[in-house]
Amino acid sequence: MSQKNKFETDAIRTQSERTQHAEHSVPVYLTSSFVFDDAEDMRASFAEENEKNIYSRFTNPNTTEFVQKICKMEGAADGYAFATGMAAVFGTFAALLNSGDHILSARAVFGATHALFTKYFPKWNISTTYFDVTDLDRFEELITPSTKMIYAESPTNPGLQVLDLERLGALAKKHNLILVVDNCFATPYLQQPIAFGADLVIHSATKLIDGQGRVLGGVTVGRSDLIREIYLFARNTGPSMSPFTAWTLSKSLETLAVRVDRHCDNAEQVLSFLESHPAVEEVRYPFHATHPQNEIAKKQMKRGGNIIAFQVKGGLEGGKQFIDAVKLCSRSSNLGDTRTIVTQPALSTHSKLSEADLLAVDITDGLIRISVGLEHPEDVIKDVKGALEAIS
Ligand SMILES: *Cc1c(COP(=O)(O)O)cnc(C)c1O
Repeated sequence: MSQKNKFETDAIRTQSERTQHAEHSVPVYLTSSFVFDDAEDMRASFAEENEKNIYSRFTNPNTTEFVQKICKMEGAADGYAFATGMAAVFGTFAALLNSGDHILSARAVFGATHALFTKYFPKWNISTTYFDVTDLDRFEELITPSTKMIYAESPTNPGLQVLDLERLGALAKKHNLILVVDNCFATPYLQQPIAFGADLVIHSATKLIDGQGRVLGGVTVGRSDLIREIYLFARNTGPSMSPFTAWTLSKSLETLAVRVDRHCDNAEQVLSFLESHPAVEEVRYPFHATHPQNEIAKKQMKRGGNIIAFQVKGGLEGGKQFIDAVKLCSRSSNLGDTRTIVTQPALSTHSKLSEADLLAVDITDGLIRISVGLEHPEDVIKDVKGALEAIS
């Protein structure tokens, strides 16, 4: 890989090689396979004595370019691109864990990841214990001789709890555990967990990395020896990212820094409107002074991100009235889109959690998650204001 430039430069200037056409913008390589010069080239390619592409389930110039960009952004040695964020999450676990292994996971994880832990992994005798990200003092008590991996997201969805990555990184190292961080909410622009001791970083590229609600994608980057296992698993089981998706996402990365900065600017404006509104009982945002882990957030994140959680008065009913009354904002479960999206987690993404589990991850009935988009913030605020006034 070439000399390290600044983040924005690498996001634009990391490109796969030009073809004979000397194109300025890298084309889409829609090909399932690649040809060999002769029998010796065929042998050498399969023996991995060169870096040639063989088959697009293994590698493709577009996926390689996308992975190389993410690696530079995250400070990672290597990576592999998956068809979706969940394929990356599952592929990472499946490649690295054996029957009998134990995972220590942060309690607040993406819904489908929670389903892996509770519904599927027990079938393969892989057990999971949840830990509280705000109580790392008791973390070591949970480690058993079978513990192999630590898994966490930060900030969490949708409670926006912040995990002390440096402290967890040190604990992982001390006990020789693989630390995997789902960095989807922060993006590599705002937070680079490897610098704090993570071994692997996962992204759902579907969210802010695409940022325009077009494609699904996932990626895992980090330590070469672990990525090698993940690559071999994926190459044999087939959850690979398509060249078209990789091309789309690689273009998206060119504007990641600009977009995420604007997302944060807009979120800050929406936040300052929300915090003074009488129908809002509480706001949660990593860079807000009232956030319980504000100091940690500022230590490990560049800015606060585009997601705000806030509690409206009137509980579940108040939340429903708010959701029903928005006109501009989208009612959707996605996040990190150009379009501002509102969700009421207690009745949608997190409706299957018990009351105790909801409270443990800071989800109250009237909690609204807003993923602030790139519309003009005054229009978003006008819409939010109108919807708050509809709460009776
Ligand atoms: C969306 C999301 C995922 C899953 O990604 P998909 O691309 O939808 O499969 C995983 N983790 C987090 C934190 C997410 O927000």
